[in-house]
Amino acid sequence: MGGRSVQRVAFSAEEIAARVAAMGAEIADHYPRGEPLLVLGLLKGSFIFVADLVREIDLPLHVDFLVASSYGNGTTSSGDVRLVYDPEAELAGRHVLLVEDIIDSGSTINRLMPLLERRGPLSLELCALLHKRICPPLVKEARWVGFDAPPEFLVGYGLDHAENFRHLPYIASL
Ligand code: 5GP
Ligand code: MG
Repeated sequence: MGGRSVQRVAFSAEEIAARVAAMGAEIADHYPRGEPLLVLGLLKGSFIFVADLVREIDLPLHVDFLVASSYGNGTTSSGDVRLVYDPEAELAGRHVLLVEDIIDSGSTINRLMPLLERRGPLSLELCALLHKRICPPLVKEARWVGFDAPPEFLVGYGLDHAENFRHLPYIASL
């Protein structure tokens, strides 16, 4: 695939499913039932995670996505972030849960959280499937993290390398 194969399975499909179920239960416990909750997935990397996570959150909720693009290229973050697709959903007056695939340098989140905060959500929290724990403290730390990630380039379960590997049911290092 793309001339490359994966090296090592970091998290199996079973491990991911168990962790996602536990996170969904914690998230459902956190939010007051009856208050509007919007789960906002950051595309493309979070698409599978969001699909699995929302099915484990036993609360009424809405789902939307946003697409952020950092200027510059692939493997390093240049710092500046703009919204390529902006959710149609109103954030004001709703609890917003931003869902990210992986936190690396933290720059995507550090740019995005203040931008979303300015739209006046009832609350704004971050849920990340993976966190490399290598960045300086985020403007707002993730309340829910699936796994601490090894310092490797990971693919699968939504995460890509040059658009390959997103469909793998497990997370592997390249
Ligand atoms: P940050 O802004 O935190 O440096 O980068 C976050 C984004 O970089 C993630 O949403 C993801 O798109 C990409 N990224 C960072 N580390 C990895 C990795 O190990 N594998 C893949 N596939 N993407 C990564
Ligand atoms: Mg991403």
